[in-house]
Amino acid sequence: MIATTEANGGNEGLYGIDSASNPLPALAACARGFLSEDYDFIIIGGGTAGLAVAARLTEDPTIVVGVLEIGKSRLDDPLVDNPAAFVQMLGNPEYDHGFKTVPQQGNRGIEHHLSRGKALGGSSAINYMMYVRGSDADHDDWAALVGDSGWSSKALRPYMHKHETLEPIDESILDQTNYPHVGEHHGTSGPVHTSFNDNSLPISDSVIKAWDEVAGLSKKPTDPWSGDHIGFFNTLGAVARSGPHKGKRSYAARGYFQANAGRPNLKVLCEAHVTKIILENGIAKGVEFVYDGMHETVYVKKEVILAGGTINSPQILELSGIGDPAILKQAGVDCKIELPGVGRNLQDHVVAVIGLDLKPGNMTSDILGDPDVMEAATKAYVEHQRGPLTSVSGTQGFFPYKNVVSSDELENTVKGIREIQHAADTTPFYRRQLNQVIAHLESDKSANLQYLMIPAGANLTAEALRTQKVWPPPDNTRAHRMALGPALQYPVSRGSCHIRSADPSVHPVIDPAYLKHPADVTVLAAGLNFMHKATKTKHLAPLVQKRSYPPEYRDLDNAADREEAVKDWVMGEYHLIGTCAMGEVVDSRLRVKGVQGLRVVDASVFPNHVSGNICSSVYTVAEKAADLIKEDWGIAFEVPDVSKLEL
Ligand SMILES: Cc1cc2nc3c(=O)[nH]c(=O)nc-3n(C[C@H](O)[C@H](O)[C@H](O)COP(=O)(O)OP(=O)(O)OC[C@H]3O[C@@H](n4cnc5c(N)ncnc54)[C@H](O)[C@@H]3O)c2cc1C
Repeated sequence: MIATTEANGGNEGLYGIDSASNPLPALAACARGFLSEDYDFIIIGGGTAGLAVAARLTEDPTIVVGVLEIGKSRLDDPLVDNPAAFVQMLGNPEYDHGFKTVPQQGNRGIEHHLSRGKALGGSSAINYMMYVRGSDADHDDWAALVGDSGWSSKALRPYMHKHETLEPIDESILDQTNYPHVGEHHGTSGPVHTSFNDNSLPISDSVIKAWDEVAGLSKKPTDPWSGDHIGFFNTLGAVARSGPHKGKRSYAARGYFQANAGRPNLKVLCEAHVTKIILENGIAKGVEFVYDGMHETVYVKKEVILAGGTINSPQILELSGIGDPAILKQAGVDCKIELPGVGRNLQDHVVAVIGLDLKPGNMTSDILGDPDVMEAATKAYVEHQRGPLTSVSGTQGFFPYKNVVSSDELENTVKGIREIQHAADTTPFYRRQLNQVIAHLESDKSANLQYLMIPAGANLTAEALRTQKVWPPPDNTRAHRMALGPALQYPVSRGSCHIRSADPSVHPVIDPAYLKHPADVTVLAAGLNFMHKATKTKHLAPLVQKRSYPPEYRDLDNAADREEAVKDWVMGEYHLIGTCAMGEVVDSRLRVKGVQGLRVVDASVFPNHVSGNICSSVYTVAEKAADLIKEDWGIAFEVPDVSKLEL
């Protein structure tokens, strides 16, 4: 376990000392300090997107921005900074909002713990740091759905570059076959540092070879961040490999906030719980929040920007009287703006799993359970800021569903989706989304399946899903373990997130609808079959002692058993999106429909899911949103030059 320096993260000394000696003058000491400013913009939520927007808007020294964040600043907290420590934050209420789903009917009625970052930097402070980009088709789908080419992959490319600094690959990685990258597809000066691990486990190469063999692939993707990520490779992580933060997590609080914390036109108040947006005649005038038990109000000159994330943004809209009148009435909230899309369209990626025990001599991160190895790893971390404690496990890849099933199976899966497409209660928006899901399934260039390898043991029980205890500490006293997981990328199922009470401290009712539609089970089961075949290849079979999960009575050579195994155990990939969807709740400039002076900027505006881990897309959306806001208010901004990019 990595020890924190102090119980709450060890940075109390930084709070609110607005003096020259304070390295973070923008961090307000108390509500009084925060309320002493007149704000052009108030941002609700100092998370991944919120801090990116705040940093960009305050580039203009005449624009004053205030950010209200419910969590604490965890800058310099070892649990946040140390990449290997992230698991210790999950389920810990000091760092994790700790939401719960309703029982998931598609997954044996299990209630899942849903982690969301509760800290400056939001979920980017507690996430797994895999840095992955969707395919070109993903963002082109967004543009088509919302009828605005400004959201196409080509138009977004400059914003993908703008947030990123790709660090050079470590020279100790001599064989770079499984680390494909081409500089021109990456940013060189953005706030988020991305890098490959500076060390690797031999098992990663074996897994990639096994996947390549099952897929029939002989070549690597050129650059999986180029818009084409089909194939298998080691991914980048959001970890700095040089400079003052070498070996540490690179996240929104570090890159977007700390780097700009000297700006006099930026103020951030932590531990401020926003309870409501103040609406007057359909115009957002300010927000109400609770700080240190006191109810406070802050007014705004230009706009309120809601960046509370996929769970809290719809919650705050509904608490403010914006949403479906029936839901609001049931919760005891007066409806001010009727907007039935709020809280609908919740989507997540779900992962199924095969757990493997390896034969002696094959190493996974369980080796860190050996005190001597841990001591050496800690020494490498403390003295050189490198080594396994700075690693992100990122052996993964993408492969089309079409290429792992027969044409009959594909046809059946599509047929099942068409049935709901024609159902009377399917909205036109959902109908169009389903066309896109079908197009992905039928394409041999698009991956509805991401394949992941986690070189660690996992607690594959319902209880572990409920309590967020899936990842136990490394254990070197037994066979080393690894998990192979196919993850569904474009779910057919749609869930929801709605308030149950007018009390802002009551968590919403969250239903991610895991595996609600049979097509999602079928696609994931095909992914499980792919993984199962990989375990039988010459690259993996000699290394595996036994399959520890699914249990033996699930015969993975049998299609029906594979589907049952999928229903037995899946977990969300922490990629919640869609509850304030562009096209439904916000327009393509991210303005809340029917309200003036209010935008949403976070993962909740993704209309459709993207393939792969989504944090890079959240930063991209935030960067683009900042320019939209600047444009609308006549604030100078540089139109990113796409002509120099290889598109
Ligand atoms: C455990 C975990 C692992 C993940 N792993 C990866 C990964 O490896 N790679 C990847 O690409 N993505 C990963 N993700 C997903 C990614 O990190 C998130 O999708 C992304 O950070 C969400 O950004 P956001 O701005 O939408 O929300 P957030 O970053 O969650 O920001 C919302 C902010 O609003 C604050 N807030 C909420 N309500 C209020 C309120 N009422 N008042 C004031 N403040 C409020 C929150 O505390 C939070 O700081 C992971 C996520 C989690 C949780």
